Amino acid sequence: MTWDYMIYEKPEPGIARIVMNRPEAANAQDSQFLYELNAAFDRAAREDDVKVIILAANGKHFSSGHDVRETDHHDNQERYAPVTPFQQHRRAGAEGRMAREEELYTGFSERWRNIPKITIAAVQGKCVSGGLLLCWPCDLIVASDDAQFQEVTVAMGVAGVEWFAHPWEMGPRKAKEMLLTGEPIGAEEARQLGMVNRVVPRADLAEATLALARKVASQPTMATKMVKQAVNAAEDAQGRHSAFQVAFALHHLAHSHWMEVYGLPVDPSGIHGNIKKSYAEGEEPFRAPKPARA
Ligand code: ZN
Repeated sequence: MTWDYMIYEKPEPGIARIVMNRPEAANAQDSQFLYELNAAFDRAAREDDVKVIILAANGKHFSSGHDVRETDHHDNQERYAPVTPFQQHRRAGAEGRMAREEELYTGFSERWRNIPKITIAAVQGKCVSGGLLLCWPCDLIVASDDAQFQEVTVAMGVAGVEWFAHPWEMGPRKAKEMLLTGEPIGAEEARQLGMVNRVVPRADLAEATLALARKVASQPTMATKMVKQAVNAAEDAQGRHSAFQVAFALHHLAHSHWMEVYGLPVDPSGIHGNIKKSYAEGEEPFRAPKPARA
């Protein structure tokens, strides 16, 4: 099994480490990147000797989010076996758009959240919007002191990323601030909010994450996976999953709104002129009138 964007290693007995390795693009996520990450998670879930899975990233930044430059996303998606029932991504309009995002974004993140092994994300540098969909599904997060968590979707005219964990990650008040301002949350503040477990110097990130993994791997797996299920069930008892589905529907209401107004799934007067360019070159026609912020 070889991947272009993922490195799979076993640094110690009982521990698998998946290293996202697209540093030249700040680990931006296109279809291939996400399917390879999913395959790596599947491999770690399947291998019986793996008790704890570390998700790390090479380069200066953990992940800059979804790769908005990907234009041949339909063909790219079909190179991989689907992992969810949502496969009608070539259908016209919102039906196709939702199907693609139900597979690649909400489908993958929900799936990774439910892996019956303990997952630990090691986050450095920027972790922006879609980047949150990689670390938030993990059970534990270790951040380096230069880590920044940021949501920029509102500036694109969309009400948050597809897998809407914000209120559970930091509480409703701070979630609103993060979304409404687009301002980054630093590592230490993220720790105080409960979004991050530990903050360590950048040079110590790999070793500190490994030490935490080692501690968890020394516990009986029967108990660790039951703890995971119990805590996740507590979130679900609070209506997490239903709330996610509402947020995802609103996310697609926004995509459809901008498609109706400008022929683009995001607000072209927002921060992402490059999205306009990528869609203009791709198969979704760009027929925008002069953008004006409403
Ligand atoms: Zn979307």
